[in-house]
Amino acid sequence: MDYRFADLVDIEKFHSMLTSFYEATGILHGLVDHENKVISAIGWQEACTDFHRLAPLSNARCLESNCYLADHLSDASFVGSTCKNGLVDYATPIVIEGQQLATLYFGQILHEPPDMAFFQNQARDCGFDEKAYLAAIRKVPVIPRERIEPIMAFYVQLAQMLAAAGLDRLRQRDAEQRLAALNQGLEQGIEQRTEELATKNDLLVLEVAERRRTERALRDSQKQLQTLLDSSPTGIGMSDVDGNVKYINKKFIELFGYGMEDIPTVEHWYRLAYPDETFRNTVVRAWAREAAVAKGTDRRPPILEAPILCKDGSIRYVIISLSWVDDYRLVNFSDITDRWLAERRNRARNATLELIAKGASLQKILHAIVLGVEAEDQRMLCSILLLDRDGRHLRNGAAPSLPEFYNQAIDGVEIGDGVGSCGTAAHTLQRVIVADIQSHPYWADFKDLAVSAELASCWSEPMLSSKGRLLGTFAIYHRQPSEPNAAALELIGYAANLASIAIERHLADAELERQAHTDFLTELATRRRFIELATAELTRAQRYRTGLSLIMFDIDHFKAVNDTFGHKTGDTVLQKLAATLRQTLRDVDIVGRLGGEEFAVMLPETNASEAWDAAERLRLAIADTEMQAEGDARFHVTISIGIATLTDTACDIETLLKNADEALYIAKNNGRDQVHGAPGAFRSKTAGYSD
Ligand code: GH3
Ligand code: MG
Ligand code: MG
Repeated sequence: MDYRFADLVDIEKFHSMLTSFYEATGILHGLVDHENKVISAIGWQEACTDFHRLAPLSNARCLESNCYLADHLSDASFVGSTCKNGLVDYATPIVIEGQQLATLYFGQILHEPPDMAFFQNQARDCGFDEKAYLAAIRKVPVIPRERIEPIMAFYVQLAQMLAAAGLDRLRQRDAEQRLAALNQGLEQGIEQRTEELATKNDLLVLEVAERRRTERALRDSQKQLQTLLDSSPTGIGMSDVDGNVKYINKKFIELFGYGMEDIPTVEHWYRLAYPDETFRNTVVRAWAREAAVAKGTDRRPPILEAPILCKDGSIRYVIISLSWVDDYRLVNFSDITDRWLAERRNRARNATLELIAKGASLQKILHAIVLGVEAEDQRMLCSILLLDRDGRHLRNGAAPSLPEFYNQAIDGVEIGDGVGSCGTAAHTLQRVIVADIQSHPYWADFKDLAVSAELASCWSEPMLSSKGRLLGTFAIYHRQPSEPNAAALELIGYAANLASIAIERHLADAELERQAHTDFLTELATRRRFIELATAELTRAQRYRTGLSLIMFDIDHFKAVNDTFGHKTGDTVLQKLAATLRQTLRDVDIVGRLGGEEFAVMLPETNASEAWDAAERLRLAIADTEMQAEGDARFHVTISIGIATLTDTACDIETLLKNADEALYIAKNNGRDQVHGAPGAFRSKTAGYSD
């Protein structure tokens, strides 16, 4: 503790209290703090202020007296002394808790009335104005010694009480201050701690934010990776060392239709994607083994080109390549279906065109086209219907995958609006898509038939010639209701087109052949064609021993017809004769124009007498046919007929023709408009003809 008196006691109040006391008692006092600083002083005697302090001698005595008091203070509670200037001073220390805070002086009093002589001497010694000095001395209060003590005690008690009160206040203040300081410290501590906590919190927040950022970045980067993999134009699949599928990208799902749930392991994938066991074991597994061997070496893993069976049953062709990320197998599937199909289609098209060029049968070509389309998508079942000769019906062309009962039921279906898909397509010359047979009005009459054949949808494309003429229809059936996509529409268009080429070519060939075999004027077989057909019939007859006859005939005096009515009328006669022939003869009979106005008819399964009857019928029919010349002239022509009948199985067509010709010659010679049988050819029941 290190207090100053002024810190403890309100000096001003203390001073005014002392002033009141001075006024009551006339005793002057002074208060000096422990640093000898005068805190309060009142009532100094003129004797001192005007005289003792001014003269060096008396001043020195004053100081000496003061020093004495000071030196003896600690010895007693108060000390008094008569100074050498003849006045009495008292001093008492004000001690609080062992520390002297100040010294209270009472002074310049006299205990007894002044010894004026002494003071007179002093005035002289010090050079004072004696009169004034003595007057001042007389003002010095005279207080008996025994009175001074209680006054002093009172003062000291008062001062000490005040000081103690001050000290308490001070202590209180100190305590408060300390408390405040403590509080402040505490507050500061709390503040600091709070700040620390806040800082820590901030750090934590930063850390959390940072972690979140990192997590976000990770998520972002995972997302980016996912986005990257998902935006890959190729399918990507990833599996671990144990063969578990860990990831497949969007394109993979899009390509093949399988999700993670379908292919938990690579083995599941193998079995779904490569259902053919032989292919799976000999090609796919061999490739996987070879790829595994390449791991960790400089060798590039091999590439596999394979068809994949997709979830929806379609086939996709892919190039499969492999790489490793740590122990993960990353497999890349590059879709080459379009290219592959285009190449394969091109190959198939070329093969078909080659078949056409080589003159393969239409049946064989159409069959190949149908199988080619069905191989592109195994869900498809194809059918080609051909326009019937009558132009009003459709006939079976090729439908090897449809049930026979269905093909038979459809064969000869009438072309018309709303008659199934094909009848309608043939009628409108427009593609007809029936995605669901059971609910489509076009199929109302064929619904049950379709159910029996397990057919659910039918898309039909009309096949048209290069000149836009209907050739038939190309249809694609499905066992499930199906809507075609762009690729399917392209496929059906392509197939119909290819089939059209084959059919048109076939029709053109047939027409050429027909023309080559057919006489332009009469539309009967030419001589060469007749011999071809007749030879075939002869061979058949010889093999089956069925009998056969050949008749030859020539118009009588035809030259005269030309000469009379003109060559054009002659032509008309030839045409009309051909028509009569067709009407009179059977379908199986083969008729040919051998040249000029000479004709031949091969009569299968006909003996000599039947041949005779036929020849007679023919002769009469022609004779009855009215011919018309230009200028409306009417006339008739007659024919002479020679018959040869097969008797010798070794006989050839030339011999038969020669025999018939000879018989004809005889008929002519015998007068024309008659029938003559070749010699030895008849076992006739009828008389009247030569043997
Ligand atoms: P016949 O047989 O009774 O002995 O007397 P013919 O007058 O019929 O005899 P020939 O065989 O000599 O005459 C055949 C004639 O038929 C000669 C020829 O001008 C004519 N001819 C042959 N081909 C055609 C043809 O395509 N058109 C026309 N208008 N006449 C033809
Ligand atoms: Mg003639
Ligand atoms: Mg002739």
